[in-house]
Amino acid sequence: MPGFELFGDMERKEVNDVLESGVLMRYGFDGNRNGHWKAKELEAALEARMQVNHAQLVSSGTAALTVALASAGVGAGDEVIMPTFTFVASFESIIAIGAVPILVDVDDTLTLDPVAVEAAIGPKTKVIMPVHMCGSMADLNALKSLCEKHDLILLEDACQAIGGSYDGKPLGAIGDLGCFSFDYVKTITCGEGGAVITNNAKYAKHADHFSDHGHDHHGKDRGAETHPFLGYNYRISELHAAVGLAQVKRLDEFLSIQKKYYGILREALSGVEGVSFRRVPAGGEENYSFLNIFLQDENSARKGANALKEAGVDACFYWYDNNWHYYKKWEHLTQKIALGKLPNEILNQMQNFDQQDFSKSDQWVGRTISCLVKLSWTEEEVRDRAAKMVAALTK
Ligand SMILES: *Cc1c(COP(=O)(O)O)cnc(C)c1O
Repeated sequence: MPGFELFGDMERKEVNDVLESGVLMRYGFDGNRNGHWKAKELEAALEARMQVNHAQLVSSGTAALTVALASAGVGAGDEVIMPTFTFVASFESIIAIGAVPILVDVDDTLTLDPVAVEAAIGPKTKVIMPVHMCGSMADLNALKSLCEKHDLILLEDACQAIGGSYDGKPLGAIGDLGCFSFDYVKTITCGEGGAVITNNAKYAKHADHFSDHGHDHHGKDRGAETHPFLGYNYRISELHAAVGLAQVKRLDEFLSIQKKYYGILREALSGVEGVSFRRVPAGGEENYSFLNIFLQDENSARKGANALKEAGVDACFYWYDNNWHYYKKWEHLTQKIALGKLPNEILNQMQNFDQQDFSKSDQWVGRTISCLVKLSWTEEEVRDRAAKMVAALTK
């Protein structure tokens, strides 16, 4: 997955353009920038690649989620449905705007289970936020129907699945809003960065203003711009955008490398007894950043993960025990441990996690091992790895 593995001359050239002008900011200073607008160019490139009308770059994937929620008018006490298996950024962004995270089970797609989502919808629900974890997507048609039926917003977190598709459309472009991360370990990187994409002109305008202190971006004098509503600073710098501009041009090359290596590993593991694969919803194509397998039960998955480690197969994750990706280790969330007082809506409306039954998630995530697909491997290394994995998991 990590685009940093193939960092090179193209990235250096784009960054140099910015260094030579010295204009490190994405807005203004028109006369000094030698015609370089890296953030704007990267936004245009994302709009073209993702087939959407609007892309807004921001400072991180977490910022993208926060800006997306704020742009859709989500605020205090609104409930956002999110999966038990994700990254902490999901609830961080929800809490940042005073909204309430509602955790819901995942199924054998390792993303939101539509049946569990429907059961969690209540009068305060405003958003369904599927997270396309480890390269593959939620059942988006089912979630879309729920959104239409209950008048909700669909916000796709595609941070780990950029370049994947569903019914022929890029992931992120299917919901009302979609988010990407370009942090250092994502498929394409800016160092730090993120983006919101949408076809909704109102949300796009909100994202543009909100991510820059509410600036309306009219005219040539920043100081004279007006502020139609409250905002914040989630801007990306021109230096970061320059790195991303080089990387986005290589996205399809990166995806084809991932697909090839994923195919080799998957074919090798298909013959191993007790190993099955994560379900990809009909009409979906993964971005192949991870190969996700199920073993027969939690015990065999733990043993399998250890056997892989002992065989020297790196970059395989047993998420069930992970501090950052699974609800079981999110004591800071479940016990509401914040530096200051949290908003009353969050304190009053959050689920009581002592009484919550996530056994369905436990069952799937407990059986899962995810193996990262690296861009820097050679084909020989992948074949060697496949053989080691088969041997380790056959034991
Ligand atoms: C990386 C990631 C984010 C957050 O992105 P940052 O750029 O690191 O803030 C959000 N959601 C998911 C699923 C991620 O993997």
